[in-house]
Parts: sequence; C-alpha cells; structure tokens
Amino acid sequence: MDSNKLKSEAGLACPYLRPSIDAMVGYIPGEQPKPGTKIIKLNTNENPYPPSPAAIEVLRNLDSEWLRRYPDPYASEFRQAASEALGVPADWIIVGNGSDEVLNLVVRACAEPGRKVVYPVPTYVLYRTLTQMQSAENIEISYPEDYCLPIEELVAAKGVVTFIASPNSPSGHVVASAQLRQLASRLSSVLVIDEAYVDFAAETALPLVEEFENVIVLRTLSKGYSLAGLRLGFGIANPKLLAGLFKVKDSYNIDAIACAVGAAAMRDQAYKNECATKVKRSRAQLAVALKQLGFQLWPSQTNFLLAKPPQGNAEQIYLALKEQGILVRYFNQPGLEDKLRISIGTNEQNQMLITALITLT
Ligand code: PMP
Repeated sequence: MDSNKLKSEAGLACPYLRPSIDAMVGYIPGEQPKPGTKIIKLNTNENPYPPSPAAIEVLRNLDSEWLRRYPDPYASEFRQAASEALGVPADWIIVGNGSDEVLNLVVRACAEPGRKVVYPVPTYVLYRTLTQMQSAENIEISYPEDYCLPIEELVAAKGVVTFIASPNSPSGHVVASAQLRQLASRLSSVLVIDEAYVDFAAETALPLVEEFENVIVLRTLSKGYSLAGLRLGFGIANPKLLAGLFKVKDSYNIDAIACAVGAAAMRDQAYKNECATKVKRSRAQLAVALKQLGFQLWPSQTNFLLAKPPQGNAEQIYLALKEQGILVRYFNQPGLEDKLRISIGTNEQNQMLITALITLT
C-alpha cells in the first residue's frame, strides 16, 4: 500500500505506532565507519588505546560452553569485580548493555505520561529520546554561559527523574560534588549522576549514593576502559532503588562474553589509569595547540574538547576534515552550531588533526 496514503488517512507517518513514537526524532548516533576504514576517528569519544591485555586474554580463552547456556541474569562476576574496584557492595550495582541501557531502565521505571524528566542543556541528547519514548514530558533548562548548575530551576521543575552528566558532554565540565549534594537533598525524586567520563576527571560524586537513597551514579566501560564495542555499563545505588530497575530489565541483558571480559578489565585498574593519564596529558597538549590556532576552548575533564574555531565556521571545518579522513563531531543545535567536539586521540592522531587545521583556520 502507498505509504503516503496511510499517512494522510491517519495524519501520521506510520499509523501502527504510538503517536508519540511516530512524532519523535530517534537518537542519531555519531558516525561509525566500517572497521578497517582508514580514518582518524575523533567523533564518538572512544579511547585511542587498546583494552586491557588481561581482558583480551579472557576473550581468547572463552569456553564455547558459555555460549550454549544462558548467561547469569545478574552478571555476578562483573558485579563482584566492580564492587572490589570501587569499594561498594555488589548488591548496590546493576549492570547494563552500555550505560545507555541503565539510563533507559531508570526512565522506564519512573517516567510515564503526565510525569516530567528534567536536565540542564546542552547535554547528552539520549535523555530527551528516552523521555519521549515513555511519552513523558521533557523539561530542558539551559546552563548559563559559565556552566554553573541551575539548582533552583532544576528543583522547581519537579521531575520524577533529574539527569546530570558530570563530566558533561559536550561541554566537558564537572559539576562539583557539593552542588550535586545540594541538589540531591532538595529533590524528592531520582537524581541520575551520569559519570560516563569520570575516568578522565579529578572528581567523582560516588560517595553521594551512600548519603542519598534517591541518587544513582552511572559508569561505563566504553570510555576509560576502551571497551565501547563490548557494551557494558553499570549503575550504583541503594538496593531499594535498584530493586525497581531490576524489575524492568531484560532477563539476560548482559551476555556471557561481556560479563567475563568486562570483569577482567575492571580488575585491571592500573592499566585503565595508565591510559587515562596518557589521554589527560594529550588533552593538555591538544588544548595548547588549538588555542595557538585561535580556537576558544572550555576546560575539559573528559576525553574530548569542545572547541570554537576562530571564525565560528564549525560545520565547514567539520566537512573539510572529513574530506581529509578526520572525523570530529558537529552538532547542528542551538548554541553548538559554531563549535566542534573533538575526542582526544593518540599524540600522533592529534598532531595530524592540528596539521590539517593549520590550513583550514
Ligand atoms: N552518558 C554520556 C554522557 C555519554 O556521552 C555516553 C556515550 N555516548 C553514554 C552515557 C553512554 O555510554 P555507553 O552506553 O557506551 O556506556
């Protein structure tokens, strides 16, 4: 049948869907060129270094029996390793298929039509998508220019969930724990502190989960642990809150390979810290080089830099770099259209970026 006819009959693009799903724009992930493509990939904040050798060793020695059977629904081996690495009890941890899945579990468990989900913007766009999927209401509160947390407005918005990414993307700033503590104490609903980039930061808000039963801190193995392809993330919170999230989780959301490989990576904190130190050093060097080219930068505690080119012609530079085989992230959104988000690569990759930028700025 003619799809245009269906659309005009129902007033919708696809009449089989819930109207709110039909109307929403799905999340658009950063470009992922085919493996093997010759490209310098600085667009989705992957770690430029390989995963822990201990994790790779586990992958090589996998027993096929693990694949025949269903995996552990609670990813116990991983939870135990994370518990030891972070000094939190294992039953205070829930594991997800990337921290994206844990974000989804929180929204699924708390949000529904008539309820609000609140967050300061600009931030991770998936918060909006997940809220729209639940037909709940998005309340987006603009960060001021200095990225100071707008606590009063966040509290007044009365969300059933409030998201704070700290460090934030794409700004790269960290929200001080004292500010998050103040926010947590004034909310009577769930506060999600998304620490996807914490491995490159000087501060964590993890102790707040002990103080506040409405706080959940999210972590991922995609950035600090160089395991974005494995899809593993986790949340740390009071078991009282986690019990609700376990109810809405798929039974076998973590496959056996991810559980075992992730546990080995978690046990190798020394390797993760060593890579993070290298990334932080490169971040400082890249910042100096970009400033010399006239870019405006925001202080970053992540593995990327938000950078405004001297002429503000971010889209043009993004396209020209792409032409030369260098991918950075361009967001065509209010407040970001004159900026680029550049993931920190190896020193060699960063140098190639700077060399390309010299001719473009
Ligand atoms: N939170 C933030 C702020 C992010 O930028 C990302 C990565 N795009 C995630 C969460 C999700 O990471 P993952 O699902 O790979 O764990």
